[in-house]
Amino acid sequence: MSKLSSIILLMVLGSTLAYKSYSGYQVLKTAPLTSASMPYINRLSKHFDFWGTPGVGRPATVMVSPEQAPLVVAAFNRMRISHEVLIPDLGPEVEREHGERKATEEANPRVAVYDRYMGCSEIQMHIAQLALTYPDIATELVLTNTPEGRKVKVLKLSNGNAGQKALWFDCAMHAREWITPPVCLRIIDEVIADPALRDMADWYIAPLANPDGYNYTINTDRFWRKTRSPNPDPNCPGIDPNRNFDFLWDAGNPTDYCSEVYPGTNAFSAPEVAAIGNFILDNADSLVLYVAIHSYGEQILYPYGHTVEPVPNVDQLIAAGTASADAIAAVAGTTYTVENSAAGLYFTYGASDDFAYGRGAVQYAYTYELSGGGSAGFDPPASLIQPVVDEVWPGIKALVDYVLAN
Ligand SMILES: [Zn+2]
Repeated sequence: MSKLSSIILLMVLGSTLAYKSYSGYQVLKTAPLTSASMPYINRLSKHFDFWGTPGVGRPATVMVSPEQAPLVVAAFNRMRISHEVLIPDLGPEVEREHGERKATEEANPRVAVYDRYMGCSEIQMHIAQLALTYPDIATELVLTNTPEGRKVKVLKLSNGNAGQKALWFDCAMHAREWITPPVCLRIIDEVIADPALRDMADWYIAPLANPDGYNYTINTDRFWRKTRSPNPDPNCPGIDPNRNFDFLWDAGNPTDYCSEVYPGTNAFSAPEVAAIGNFILDNADSLVLYVAIHSYGEQILYPYGHTVEPVPNVDQLIAAGTASADAIAAVAGTTYTVENSAAGLYFTYGASDDFAYGRGAVQYAYTYELSGGGSAGFDPPASLIQPVVDEVWPGIKALVDYVLAN
């Protein structure tokens, strides 16, 4: 081998090695869960990486490292939860997706909102560009700086009418949920294009609620979920932003920094979360709708996450959610279920929608879990970004129509 080709080989290896290998990682899938098994699943989910929202009547999927696999299998066996190996080795799938994303980015370096999964700085620049292109209606707000020096940006779209109601949408609070930013960007496109939408309300849209985490999934680790905040254990940085809001915040196991749902040392300890939470409180008088967009599960979830006790306006929450699900189904037949967040007996504390509803008194608060896809589960291949945003936008529009009419 010539010296040059050795150098090239080293460079190729180096760029491959820089991305975390999931070689030997498996995804296990259980049979549909029973209510008797849910306390165990709730406990296990603090220590292992469950995907989607586990719940009664649904199978759970959990990603395990080679070291974790025997522990989880033993726990399932002890609880008599039958299970199978859904993906025997995540390694090749992650490498394929990473290579494909980089290749399409190089082949198509223009901003390509719905053609491929864009990088963090691309999305951030796109938001800034929209504010420059449409200065009369679009304003870029910077809510905070992140621990790694990025900005949590919100695009405000408004005709400047006084005293209007306001709507909030955030995407990619969980870093690995790549299908979500294109949905926020689609909402932005629609609201920029239609003055009537801006006469209905002021729109606040945060396409990257957790930019440090998102950047990390693009460049380093596909399945990173949390922020990148430093923790006392340097091997386990990051806080689950959707467990860090100041509403029934749960200390859980405060020293389990490695947990995918580590809630932080105290509520609002993640600056991204504190900034979004304080924005909601500051605008509580005008906000009538809060929507957190996550993946995956094809669910429209409404408060609360810690109890199945119905909230006062549960009928309206269900009616608006159902109008949204019907509009989504009308496009291509995808069925979203409308559920109380805790209905599957999977309990969460410190979640953003519960905070908006319980502390911000935002009357309509939801978490959308979009479609999954690909053999790795998290996101559809890039070719499905367009169909997903095409079906979700009518659902968002129907939701907004209902909320503003009621
Ligand atoms: Zn999520």
